[in-house]
Amino acid sequence: MNRKLILFLLCAALLLACFGCFGPQPQRYEAVYYDVFDTVTKLSGYAESESAFWDQADKVYTELHAYHVLFDIYHDVPEPNLKTINDRAGGEPISVDPQIINLLLFAKEVDQQTNHRVNATLGAVTKLWHDAREAALSDPAHAAVPNAHSLNEAAQHTGFDKLEIDEAAGTVRLTDPLARLDVGAIAKGYAAQKVYEMLPDGYLLSLGGNVVAKGTKPDGSAWAIGIQDPDDPAALKHTVRAESLAIVTSGDYQRVFTLDGVQYHHIIDPDTLTPATRWRAVTVLCGDSAVADMLSTALFLMDYEAGSALAKQYNAEALWIAPDGREYRTEGFGAYQKD
Ligand code: AMP
Ligand code: MG
Repeated sequence: MNRKLILFLLCAALLLACFGCFGPQPQRYEAVYYDVFDTVTKLSGYAESESAFWDQADKVYTELHAYHVLFDIYHDVPEPNLKTINDRAGGEPISVDPQIINLLLFAKEVDQQTNHRVNATLGAVTKLWHDAREAALSDPAHAAVPNAHSLNEAAQHTGFDKLEIDEAAGTVRLTDPLARLDVGAIAKGYAAQKVYEMLPDGYLLSLGGNVVAKGTKPDGSAWAIGIQDPDDPAALKHTVRAESLAIVTSGDYQRVFTLDGVQYHHIIDPDTLTPATRWRAVTVLCGDSAVADMLSTALFLMDYEAGSALAKQYNAEALWIAPDGREYRTEGFGAYQKD
């Protein structure tokens, strides 16, 4: 190759590179959904064009909706879902989608790892609180908490010994007619993890507070994720830097109803069968969203020592906010904190 040709090729390469610099830069787009997992879902992402973003958003929605239908315990759908298993408790084994088997196997492992703090077979108990909340929200003047007798009676119908999972046959059955599943503590994180795995870099999903940040923003900077103030959830207490990370918070300000000035929330202590009062909120940072979701609920139900040991086991970091406003952190949490 002669020198002139080399020079020409170099110039052409430079021109092409420069053209790339001034070419279309990815823009940020956002989609919001209100009909999956009984919560608000936000997807933000950087894409070359609006249509490229919406193609991605449609795939995410389809995936989330499929999990929402399978893990729903409140609505009947054509194919067997978790409500079918609850409704047919005490009956024959039910053939279910493999994702239901996977979720329930994970739920069983969570029950063991958390010393039964996070127990997806507590459904008979959590249903009483769920119904009390729904009734109180629709008619606040007649708000009431479930009575101790019915809670104790419901607690007799809990425990993984009442759930048969036949992996080989692909069937599930609750052996006790009064037992109920409630996967509220893990299902959103599980579904968010599945979406995380299919998303390209540069996307952020918030599934009712279960946040997954895929990669970084296109300029290489980390995402900034806010941690709500339990006293004023519209305000942020802290902000964390997130890059390929799941951030999940369990808090006593979520899903509440009020009676005689007392707020009752949705995370039930399996010992007292009433809403847990040890913490106001626990935020978990972890590489896996399903684990982050189960840990935030678990740590909410444990003391600091047991919780930090469990977080360490899963290579997760956590921030606890106590009722007196004091904050506790795992050793590595500060490295993520921006403020
Ligand atoms: P999270 O917001 O992830 O902490 O999960 C709370 C949800 O999990 C509640 O709305 C209930 O559906 C369910 N739940 C409440 N208490 C428990 C518990 N001790 N074990 C398992 N699930 C629970
Ligand atoms: Mg959870």
